[in-house]
Amino acid sequence: MDMGIRGRHAIVCAGSKGLGKGCARALAAEGVHITLVARGIEALEQTAAELRADHGVEVRVVATDITTDAGRAAALAACPQPDILINNAGGPPPGDFRQFDRDMWIKAVDANMLTPIELIKATLDGMIARRFGRIVNITSSAVKAPIDILGLSNGARAGLTGFIAGISRSPSAHNVTINNLLPGAFDTDTMRSRMATVAKNTGITLDAVLESRASGIPAKRFGHIDEFGAACAYLCSAHAGYVTGQNFLIDGGAYPGTF
Ligand code: NAP
Repeated sequence: MDMGIRGRHAIVCAGSKGLGKGCARALAAEGVHITLVARGIEALEQTAAELRADHGVEVRVVATDITTDAGRAAALAACPQPDILINNAGGPPPGDFRQFDRDMWIKAVDANMLTPIELIKATLDGMIARRFGRIVNITSSAVKAPIDILGLSNGARAGLTGFIAGISRSPSAHNVTINNLLPGAFDTDTMRSRMATVAKNTGITLDAVLESRASGIPAKRFGHIDEFGAACAYLCSAHAGYVTGQNFLIDGGAYPGTF
């Protein structure tokens, strides 16, 4: 299916690797020009080269920390009128909530709640004026089914989710939508490094930890970033103008509830 977004411009935050890269790849495959943001220049350049070679789209790279004012300004300077905004950043560390101090909370809220809110604030009215906009926030399945050791993530992302629920309805009258994608367990660097920590702490091999984690998922495997990207491309498509304010879970069946 042609997604109907060829020639549009997207900012993909935290897009050099993992889920953000999956989104960038799926959008580029639909002919969307990409402004790719991440801190490390090497992975950025590598992903940008892949996208240009595979899909012939324009790709700008912005090597910056998207959780800072300067980082967001740099991303917006590279793409001042995005049609599509993919909000994403690294997640906060796991741990016992008793160990989380105020600085850790501020950092988590900055990265996983206030950064997407600031970027939406900077881009939404332009999208409304141009009568097309698609905003997708990468959050987590933990918004729906919180995980005890991910208190910083549960808290910050739940705050973003509540905010989005409030503001995402009325822009749809102008063909502008805002939705959240909730990943379960996907095979990315972050997921593997979390599992490596578990392996180290328990004395089990990394392969055994990965196998045991995957066996607990009804699909019996981890998600692939291209599966995530495909869902993102649909939400950003011309066909999804009637879908807004939704929390779209992609978790291989891990969440057991009816809704
Ligand atoms: P990943 O594969 O490690 O990729 C993270 C990407 O984000 C990289 O491109 C990284 O590049 C970039 N990044 C991180 N912090 C950034 C910052 N401050 N500014 C700009 N770019 C930044 O991670 P992932 O698994 O795709 O995770 C993406 C998000 O989804 C995270 O918030 C994670 O907690 C969440 N999530 C992931 C899973 C999963 O199973 N993978 C499940 C639930 C939720 P640089 O390091 O070079 O900046």
